[in-house]
Amino acid sequence: MLKKQELMIHAWHDDMLKIKLDDYILSFDDGLYSQVLGIRKIVDIYPDINIHFYVTTGFINIDNCPRTFNESDIAQDLAINMEMYGDFVSYDDLIELSKLKQVTIGFHGHRHLRPSLFKRNNSLNDYIYHMRKDIDSMVEVALKFKDLQLIKNGAPILYCTPYNEKDDLVIALIRKGFNTFFSEPLIVTGPERLDIFDFDECPPALERYSKFINEKQQKIISAMRVPPKYFTELSIL
Ligand SMILES: [Zn+2]
Repeated sequence: MLKKQELMIHAWHDDMLKIKLDDYILSFDDGLYSQVLGIRKIVDIYPDINIHFYVTTGFINIDNCPRTFNESDIAQDLAINMEMYGDFVSYDDLIELSKLKQVTIGFHGHRHLRPSLFKRNNSLNDYIYHMRKDIDSMVEVALKFKDLQLIKNGAPILYCTPYNEKDDLVIALIRKGFNTFFSEPLIVTGPERLDIFDFDECPPALERYSKFINEKQQKIISAMRVPPKYFTELSIL
């Protein structure tokens, strides 16, 4: 039997339920709260579905702030200022997800760095330095995930590359980082995934929303490059 393809989903929208989702392995990126709301519905409809939930470990809502601002400018501003999060999962959400048999929690970087941009704008040494720092932070959070039993003993550790960009050097560094602390094999995915926004069932408004989110993400990424007031090395976790 053919292995199912991973279907990439960012912000959740109920129109996505029009797609026969269990034809795919669902692949949620970044750890957004709207995704938790979607997953609760999905597992009711498809009890045997497989869901990979890739958390950007630097974006976890550690203050458990209310998420009623989901998808609003206020939530985006909170994220851009790096002081509160309106739309990212909390540890309580992650514990809830980890108890679902359908869900495997994986990793998606710590600061969601884009390898090609960093390579272009930095010397090779600086590039390696930034990437190692990011991976170190992600592995540190992964150890906390293991303590909280968000990672199951013996199960492979899933990693999905930000922006679906695979860079051999970065992947080698990630393997080294995880192999130092975890005996479980690391499975890396990214470019081969399908994007749910390419489906006809997603109305055009969603494409615009996707573009809007991408623009906001770019702002968040540039905000993260401004040290140290908003993003000191360990300010998030
Ligand atoms: Zn992402």
